[in-house]
Amino acid sequence: MRRETKKLFYGKVGIGGDSPISVQSMTNTDTRDIKSTINQIKRLEKEGCDLIRVAVLDNDAAIAIKDIKKGINIPIISDIHFDYRLALEAIKSGVDGLRINPGNIGDKKKVEEVVKACKERQVPIRIGVNSGSISKEVLEKFGGVNEDSMVYSAMEHVRILEELDYTNIKISLKATDVRLTVKAYEKISNMVNYPLHVGITEAGTPWSGTIKSSIGIGSLLLRGIGDTIRVSLTGDPVEEVKVGKQILRTLGILKDKIEIISCPTCGRTQIDLINLANRVEERLKDIYKPIKVAIMGCAVNGPGEAREADIGIAGGKGCGLIFKKGKIIKKVKEEDLLDELVREIDKL
Ligand code: SF4
Repeated sequence: MRRETKKLFYGKVGIGGDSPISVQSMTNTDTRDIKSTINQIKRLEKEGCDLIRVAVLDNDAAIAIKDIKKGINIPIISDIHFDYRLALEAIKSGVDGLRINPGNIGDKKKVEEVVKACKERQVPIRIGVNSGSISKEVLEKFGGVNEDSMVYSAMEHVRILEELDYTNIKISLKATDVRLTVKAYEKISNMVNYPLHVGITEAGTPWSGTIKSSIGIGSLLLRGIGDTIRVSLTGDPVEEVKVGKQILRTLGILKDKIEIISCPTCGRTQIDLINLANRVEERLKDIYKPIKVAIMGCAVNGPGEAREADIGIAGGKGCGLIFKKGKIIKKVKEEDLLDELVREIDKL
């Protein structure tokens, strides 16, 4: 069961509480390059990105948020390190959320100013602790990077905001190590009821990073932990969103597109199933229908094994059977299988 949390709003997008688990990403354009940043966000929106974060390195980037917002449809979060003036400028530009650690801003007055501006505009703050950014003192206190030092570090920032009566907070505790990340989130989820932004930091290239993120984020979501996710990949952020959405689909959390199941093929396969499965996946990838399609290599085991699928193909020799809920409905020549399958899917 999903853990109960407070609900926050980033623009119109809710995070935590009864809101759906959202997928977010971060642009890798120069935020000051408004056109490129909008174009990239548009591509991300097309893949289903729910929220976007942009790096705010200087005042021009903070000001650019105003124009970027005009060209996009999803909430925008500014990622700021240390400089409270950038946070104030981003808030002035209408940013929907901040990622800033109050303990890194400096003296209390500066934190108060940021919190005051956030309160006025109802801008949530994400406290984000990464395994690599824990202070020397905290590392010494807890004997290095572990779940205790990560959680303690996050809670230091949380307390600063709570003392200022600010609880519009979301927390992330990302490590590069999957087990450590899971332990840290488990620990903090028993201590606070703020929504959690989950992910594995610096997960790697699209291939290895996808596996690492899927295991880490998947493990957490299966424990009911996580209200918004970000897959971090060294690549096009569009891939991050694709993987994030697919993680949610795989866990049955998101039911929007067609789910394809296919057999691994074996000595019984008499059809070019690998090629067929790939063509089916490509052809169906943009169809938003919450159904299950099975692509199976043989008629002996295919329809029976894929009984839970709404529709499927079972390969034969130069032909294939189309079945619905395990019942054979027609026999089709191999070259017509894909078109016939799509026709039958259209009818569902
Ligand atoms: S469905 Fe048929 S072809 Fe595919 S793995 Fe099972 S037995 Fe082999």
